[in-house]
Amino acid sequence: MSGDCLFCRIVAGELPATVVHETDRVLAFRDIAPQAPVHVVVVPKAHHADVSALAAADEHLAGELLAAAADVARLEHLDHGYRLVVNTGTDGGQTVFHVHVHLLGGRGLTWPPG
Ligand code: AMP
Ligand code: ZN
Repeated sequence: MSGDCLFCRIVAGELPATVVHETDRVLAFRDIAPQAPVHVVVVPKAHHADVSALAAADEHLAGELLAAAADVARLEHLDHGYRLVVNTGTDGGQTVFHVHVHLLGGRGLTWPPG
């Protein structure tokens, strides 16, 4: 737990969130500023700053994060597809430095991203 980390505080229950799925090591909750009809943020409960740090520290947890995102897609009935995004670092558009997978779906998504 990192005391000044937004997502650590959500994991700890100190800040509210609409949780849609939880495992022993992963939490999924709705994004506060949704960019698609379904926009869920999937985070490890343990603090890792970004995907590089997560992969270096715990490869298995990185896999659990992806598996949980796929579970949420099924729970949200995204039968026609969805997109997973992991913004990383400043150029990647990361604003919360606790690694997270964005699950976006419920509409056709364009490519390339901005
Ligand atoms: P990123 O820009 O990839 O680091 O993504 C951070 C995401 O966290 C953004 O999509 C924000 O809308 C989202 N976010 C920020 N604060 C909250 C919050 N309190 N609850 C849920 N999502 C949040
Ligand atoms: Zn954190």
